[in-house]
Formats: sequence, structure tokens, C-alpha cells
Amino acid sequence: MGDRTVYDDLGVPRVVNATGTKTRIGGSRIRPEALEAMERAANEFVRLSDLQANASDLISEVTGAEAGYVTSGADAGMLLSAAAAMAGNDVDAMTQLPDTSGVPAEIIMPRTHRTGYDHAFRAAGATIVDVGTNDRALGTGSTAVELWEIENAISDRTAAIGYVQKSYTEPPLSAVTDVAAKHDVPVIVDAAAELPPKSNLSRFIEDGADLVVFSGGKAIRGPQTTGLVAGRTDLIQSIALQHLDMHAASEVWEPPEQLIDLEEIDGVPRQGIGRPMKVGKEELVGLIVALESFLDSDPNALRDRWYSDAEYISKAIESVDGVETRLVAGGDTSVASEVEVHVDSDTAACSATELVRGLRSESPRIFVGADRLDEAVVTINPMCLEDGERDYVVDRVRTHLERQ
Ligand SMILES: *Cc1c(COP(=O)(O)O)cnc(C)c1O
Repeated sequence: MGDRTVYDDLGVPRVVNATGTKTRIGGSRIRPEALEAMERAANEFVRLSDLQANASDLISEVTGAEAGYVTSGADAGMLLSAAAAMAGNDVDAMTQLPDTSGVPAEIIMPRTHRTGYDHAFRAAGATIVDVGTNDRALGTGSTAVELWEIENAISDRTAAIGYVQKSYTEPPLSAVTDVAAKHDVPVIVDAAAELPPKSNLSRFIEDGADLVVFSGGKAIRGPQTTGLVAGRTDLIQSIALQHLDMHAASEVWEPPEQLIDLEEIDGVPRQGIGRPMKVGKEELVGLIVALESFLDSDPNALRDRWYSDAEYISKAIESVDGVETRLVAGGDTSVASEVEVHVDSDTAACSATELVRGLRSESPRIFVGADRLDEAVVTINPMCLEDGERDYVVDRVRTHLERQ
């Protein structure tokens, strides 16, 4: 199955990915045209601010936002968005972060929107103020958060409102941005994994978001270490100033006008809080090309292929004793179809947990979805499997589950 890989050369076990795009095991396969462009990018020099200005034009065109910026992942985009909301065009505040003395630094978030990724807000120096409850889960009809709770939390200490876009999040984004606009507070939206559909590129900007963050390494299939931010010109300028390399002689510093307006700042800022999250010319070019290809790609063809692969895998496994499979078709937002494998450990040769551990310890390692082991369910997602790998996964899964 497959040729010798660079991981074989290094003696590092490679992974057959039957769980979809997961950062821990390398995310997605980069688009070949993006990879080729990166190789060409690596051989020449370019001013990174010019390249960011070019990316800004593309991001603005595809999202409808005023401007855009390429970051080293969606999470870095969240950190930089928080830094921009706090510092604005104040060069002293930029220098001071993550120390926020004297700078409005609270980011309000509905409690049910909190995730591990919001560590990025705090890394910029912000304090997260979460509002509402988890009452929705009680099933009493009570909501998790009301708009007035968000509005009441806004004060002169507020830097932004953080909003995580998921199919289940409430209140609706447009209602939150209305309240925020009334108080002149920017709304930062984490939409890292909300592609496809392509229409989501512009949807959250249309709903009034001030900054929206997407991952470049998920469905866009750009370099793993990229993300993009789309939003207001002034906030993107602040991101650029806090991210670009700033060891510049001020007399000759002439950054691209559409990204940085020299009239609005006191002088050349020092290296900002974003400097440790640099984006190289190769990654920038890779993301630009991958984003263009993502826009050109046919979502139906992919969806049909993933559905038929999932159907094939489901049929090939369901005959094992103690195993029931269920095919879950990919929708508009969940990218690919998946197979749920329900394992009855009294009848099958092993439990769902033992299956996951067994597959992971093989060479090559096989990763299946392990998010629902508490229900004795393993999921198989075909989106990152190549042709030969599909049958290999079926064979290994059957071998573990079948009594000899
Ligand atoms: C994947 C993800 C992130 C992080 O994206 P990176 O590009 O890996 O930094 C942040 N938030 C959510 C909701 C995600 O799904």
C-alpha cells in the first residue's frame, strides 16, 4: 500500500487517516497546486507586507470584508484579533501587550461558546468574561444566554465580544453584532472549521462580524500552519502592525498603503505580540493558491465520492458479529459522510476502545474516530483515505473485530 514515505525514511511510523482532518495527525492533504507554488515561492525573495496586501485583496474579494490577513493558523488569528481589538492603532499599547494595564482588555463570550482554543485570547493579554449559563442542557426550555446578558456585560473595560460559530450556537450572530454595534464593540468570530459551504466565507461578514477567522489547513487544504482573518480595515491594520517583522529603519519604511496607513500611527512599532507567529512567503503563497482552488472546486463531486466510500466501508464491516454500522451522510456543514461502527464487546472479539488502541499501535498506525468511545462507537471517515487505503482499513478493522 503506497510507496516508501519520508516518514519511513526517518523511522517515524506513518498514519493511515480514517478520521478526517485532525491537526494531531497532520490535518489535511495540501492541494498539489499549492505545494508547487510554495516550491516556487521558496526560491525568490518578496516583501512580506506586499504579499500580505495581495492576500488581503483576495480575502476581501471572497469574503466581502474590507480587508484580510494570513496568520499561522486560525488560533493565531484569534490571538491577533484580540490584540487588534485591544490595541487598535495605539503603538504604545501594541508594545505593552500582553500587559494590559490601562487598556480595555475584556472579551465577552457566551459561556457555551468557550473552548480550549480561546486560550489564544488570553495569550494576547485579554481577560475572558463569560456570560449566561449551560441551562440549555437541562432541557427545561431555558436558553443558555440572552442578548441582554451580553449587553449588560459591556462596559468601558470591554475590548470585544468573542463568538464561536457552530451549528448549535446561540444567540444568532446578527443579533449579537447588532448589540455590539450599538456600543461600538467589535465582534470576533471563530469560524475555523465552518468551511464548506463556500458561502460561509462571506456569511459571517454579512451578519455584521468585525473579524472572522478561518483555518487554512482544514477544507481549504492550504499549508497546515495557515489561517486567515477577514474584517475591518482598521483592525486588519492593527493585526499587520503587531505581526509583521518590525526591525525597520523608519526613514525608509514604506509599507503597502492598503494594509497600513502611516498617517494613523505615531511611528514604527516594535516587534509585536504576533512576531513569534510568523508566516513565511511559502505558506502565504500556499494559502493564496489553495484558497483560489478551494473556490474553484466542485463540492458535489467530493461529497458524492465521500458518500460512496462511506457506503462501501459500512457494507464491508456490517457483517461482523457484534457490529452494527450506520451511515451518516455529510450535510452542508459536516464535510464528509461517516460510518458509525457500534461495537458490542460481548459478541465481537474486542471493545470499541480496544479496537482504537489496537489500530493505533500498528505500523502504519491507523487512526479512526474516537470521540464517542463512551457509547462504544468508533467512526470511520473516508475524506483523507486514498484508494488503496480504504480496503486496507476495512481489512484491519475486520481482523480486530472478528472472532478467530
Ligand atoms: C480547528 C479549530 C481551531 C484552530 O484552527 P488552527 O488553524 O488549527 O489554528 C480553532 N477553533 C475551532 C472551533 C476549530 O475547529
